[in-house]
Amino acid sequence: MRPTGKLHLGHLVGALRNWVALQETYRCYYFVADWHALTSHYADTGEIVESALDNAADWIAAGLDPERSTLFVQSLIPEHAELALLLGMITPIPWLERVPTYKEQIEQLAERDLSSFGFLGYPLLQTADVIIYNANVVPVGDDQVPHLELSREIVRRFNNFYGEVFTEPQALLTQVPRLPGLDNRKMSKSYGNTIDLSDDAVTVQKKVRQMYTDPKRVRADIPGTVEGNPVFLYHDAFNPDVDEVEDLKARYRLGTVGDVEVKTKLATAVNSMLDPMRERRAAALARPGYLREVLFEGSTSARAEAAATMERVRDAMKLRY
Ligand code: AMP
Repeated sequence: MRPTGKLHLGHLVGALRNWVALQETYRCYYFVADWHALTSHYADTGEIVESALDNAADWIAAGLDPERSTLFVQSLIPEHAELALLLGMITPIPWLERVPTYKEQIEQLAERDLSSFGFLGYPLLQTADVIIYNANVVPVGDDQVPHLELSREIVRRFNNFYGEVFTEPQALLTQVPRLPGLDNRKMSKSYGNTIDLSDDAVTVQKKVRQMYTDPKRVRADIPGTVEGNPVFLYHDAFNPDVDEVEDLKARYRLGTVGDVEVKTKLATAVNSMLDPMRERRAAALARPGYLREVLFEGSTSARAEAAATMERVRDAMKLRY
């Protein structure tokens, strides 16, 4: 995850909940992708470390367990950069130029100049991040599938030149529900429409009150539409009281419930869901140096593995002196 700001409910449903569940079945590696943040945020690096620590607090609050999973920082493992450089030697530029998100992002983020070498090459760094640990699967949404396909092609090319060093990583496809934000566009920091995992209860109430609902429903006695209505999508995602949600939906369709009641119950549900996370977050932040310690320890253990892989790489490439 790139440390580019505070984490929000979109990160929770789209990534963190899945990451936490994967700990039951896999030996997991999760990292702060601070070099990847530089591909688009190279001009303003002042908040990267602060975001990294803040994100790590949210990871732990959401249930990532540093005793079970390796939580680390990309830039503390320079071997990732060494491997990315070597992969750059064998990767034809057209392979990078045809990655679908490449042109898309350049167009979407027109306010940033993304014509850099680093931005073009970031799938190489991403490949290095994965294969340096011999990862066999990577949990991704379908938008990331072309990146992993590219990673496999690079692995095949490398292994073809230098012998079987790397494992071809497979996508562990997860249905990533795209959570809308307060204004019904995709929840994203750049739209200013987020509910952050670190928001307090009053902030959550205020934000939920501003949420977009059925725009046709100007009065509480007009029948409303539930389908595609973000307020009900949130109820489905965050309110465990199914009877309450069904009752609200039925009355909304009939025009016998006000938005205030629907939103008040939603804010209560979101706050009850966030409460235990708030406690774990506060506990992590209350221990001086704890988050840095977690990330340093994780990075030390990850680095030992990355260094061992690079020994094999140097041998395979006959770069042994
Ligand atoms: P970002 O911070 O935008 O780079 O997002 C990192 C990851 O968080 C994405 O790959 C998604 O898995 C997840 N994510 C971010 N925003 C949302 C959202 N609104 N809905 C669902 N998942 C999201």
